[in-house]
Amino acid sequence: VLRGGGLVGFPTETVYGLGADATNARAVAGIFAAKGRPLFNPLIAHVADTADARRFAILDARAEALAAAFWPGALTLVLAKTAACAIADLTTAGLDTVAIRVPSHRVAQALIRAAGVPVAAPSANRSGHVSPTTAAHVDADLGDAVAMILDDGPSAVGIESTVVDLSGPVPTLLRAGG
Ligand code: AMP
Ligand code: MG
Repeated sequence: VLRGGGLVGFPTETVYGLGADATNARAVAGIFAAKGRPLFNPLIAHVADTADARRFAILDARAEALAAAFWPGALTLVLAKTAACAIADLTTAGLDTVAIRVPSHRVAQALIRAAGVPVAAPSANRSGHVSPTTAAHVDADLGDAVAMILDDGPSAVGIESTVVDLSGPVPTLLRAGG
C-alpha cells in the first residue's frame, strides 16, 4: 500500500501514525487531506535506523550522540537535509530541514523495512482530535481514509515523541513528549 501511494494506519510506541511514502508528494498530500492538516505544518519522516537517517539528514556530533542514546525510540530530531535527500518538499513544508525519527515499535519497524521508503506519519487522527493509541481509535476517526490499519494493541508511551531542533547552533526543544 505504501509503495503504491496509499495511506496506512500503524502502531508506534508513542501513538498510532497515519503513514505514507515520504518521498511521494501525491501520497503525502493524502495525509494532509485526510487529517485536514494545514500544508505549512511539516511531517516527521520515520526511518528504520540511524544509517537510514543519514541518507536524508546531516547528523552532526550532537545528533549522533542523541541518536546513539535515544534511537530507536520516542525522540524526533530536526536536522538539515542532505543534498541528495529524496523526501518530498510537501513532507517538510518546503523547509530545508527535516524531522526524523527511528521508532522502536516492532510493527513500525517491520512496516518501514518492508516498504523500503521513509514513512511520513503524523498521528492518525483528524486535526484537533485526540491522538489515537489504539487501532479502534484510528478506525473511528480515519477509517474511511486509510487503505489498511495495522493493529498491535495499545501504544505503550501514549503521547507524541519529544522533538529537538538541531538545525541551528543552539539545540531547541520544540516539544516535550514521550
Ligand atoms: P505531529 O504534529 O505530531 O506530526 O508532530 C510533528 C511536529 O514536528 C510538529 O510540531 C511540526 O511542526 C514539527 N516539525 C516537523 N518537521 C519540522 C521541521 N522541519 N522543522 C521544525 N519543526 C518541524
Ligand atoms: Mg497529532
